[in-house]
Amino acid sequence: MTRTNSTDSDGGRGREHPDQVLSTLQRDGERRWLYPTPSHGPLWRARLVVGWALIALFTALPLVEIGGEPAVLLDVIHRRFVIFGAVFHATDTVFLMLFLLISCLTIGLLTALLGRVWCGWGCPQTVYLEFVFRPIERWVEGSETERKRRDEGPWTVDKAWRKAVKHGLYAAVALGLAHTFVAYFVSWEKLVEWMTGPPTQHWGFFVMMAITTALILFDFAYFREQMCVTICPYAKLQSVLMDEDSMIVSYDPNRGEPRGRRSRAQIKKEQDGAKLELGDCIDCGACVRTCPTGIDIRDGLQLECVNCTQCIDACNDIMESIDKPKGLIRYTSQRQIEDGEEANILRPRVILYSLLLAALMGIFGFLLYAEQPVSVDVRRESGASYRQLDGEGQPVASSVQFRLRNQTDQTQSYEITVEGPEGSSLREVDDLSFELDANEMTRVNTWVLIPKRHFGSEGRAEATFAIRSDGEIVQKPSLSMQGPITHVE
Ligand code: SF4
Ligand code: SF4
Repeated sequence: MTRTNSTDSDGGRGREHPDQVLSTLQRDGERRWLYPTPSHGPLWRARLVVGWALIALFTALPLVEIGGEPAVLLDVIHRRFVIFGAVFHATDTVFLMLFLLISCLTIGLLTALLGRVWCGWGCPQTVYLEFVFRPIERWVEGSETERKRRDEGPWTVDKAWRKAVKHGLYAAVALGLAHTFVAYFVSWEKLVEWMTGPPTQHWGFFVMMAITTALILFDFAYFREQMCVTICPYAKLQSVLMDEDSMIVSYDPNRGEPRGRRSRAQIKKEQDGAKLELGDCIDCGACVRTCPTGIDIRDGLQLECVNCTQCIDACNDIMESIDKPKGLIRYTSQRQIEDGEEANILRPRVILYSLLLAALMGIFGFLLYAEQPVSVDVRRESGASYRQLDGEGQPVASSVQFRLRNQTDQTQSYEITVEGPEGSSLREVDDLSFELDANEMTRVNTWVLIPKRHFGSEGRAEATFAIRSDGEIVQKPSLSMQGPITHVE
């Protein structure tokens, strides 16, 4: 792994600059601001399509409902996770463990095969920066050269209004993004309730939203490539996850070196068949100027490279213009570049990851299939805690909601009862005996009445319920209930 310090702040031509220690850091510790020039080649267009499809998916997942629930809900506070209609709880440790293992192995397999394809094509940092925030910047402030000239110049009215409009648009996008992001954790239903309720009752929500928006704004307006270069742990892991057969964006030094600029006359001679003592790289710097992390791909595999393929598009354009074959920079493996051999796809780590992944997905699917005939989710009504009923010896009442789904393919009848603690009872709000059609889901609200003595020194009691189907208990969910502290040890 080598590190580059090769680019000039004006776009550079890949030569060492005495003032730089890193691609984005000057020797005096100052940030070197990048102005990457976009290269709108075929790979960029493909990434644009993928990027916008992912943005649409990210926006839709908490919005679209499946069976009365958001498609994805990560309710960390209530330790309840909904993934495409399946509800998991923190107690479903096997499912959660399998899910984490499958995610890690998928990343491992993808990286072993395709290098940092996630960074260049799928990571929200890249997708939103390249296809939302940078286009806004270019639209308002103009091309890279114009922006750089204006940034280095004094404050003028023109500079001030452009900056104000750009940051205003950034703030609007960041606010939308923050709402979508938070919706994954609390649901849009709850968000809308908070947004339309009195601010004094939901000040926590406004603070949380302001902080999330500010962080997103800071990241995309200022921090940018520093996130990939200095913070993201995945970048640091790549050397462990990749090998010489992984597909990466690489410059081919066998073809390109010795690099050298040519005069128009020399290029013309080459096009006419003359042989120069030079490689195909004309040292034009287009690959460096387009790089969003400011590196020179010709220095070899680098930690900063997010495999965005912009240098491929840029160099292919140059090759086309001088009648040379495309692919001086291309997706290839280190083995191909160094030994000229084809990348070996079926290698031990790929086979091992694939087998493990297939086995884990099989287990996950089987466990899901073999699940209970009814899925039950019970939770306290959010916001409310409990109510002490008036009168000597009266129980403590809490409002709870059951969500039941009939997971069989036949109509079933159900009954909800409370089994404990001793002396507890349910006070009906909705009917506690009901029928559900195949795959139907319903919500049942009820009050749980628990004798005060069970709450003890912690002010908590574990309520156990029974769900009966045709007289047989099919599930016994439990829920920790809040109540008054009844004795102090
Ligand atoms: S070197 Fe090429 S692929 Fe890597 S980040 Fe720069 S432009 Fe993207
Ligand atoms: S764009 Fe291609 S030709 Fe130009 S400097 Fe980069 S590698 Fe060389």
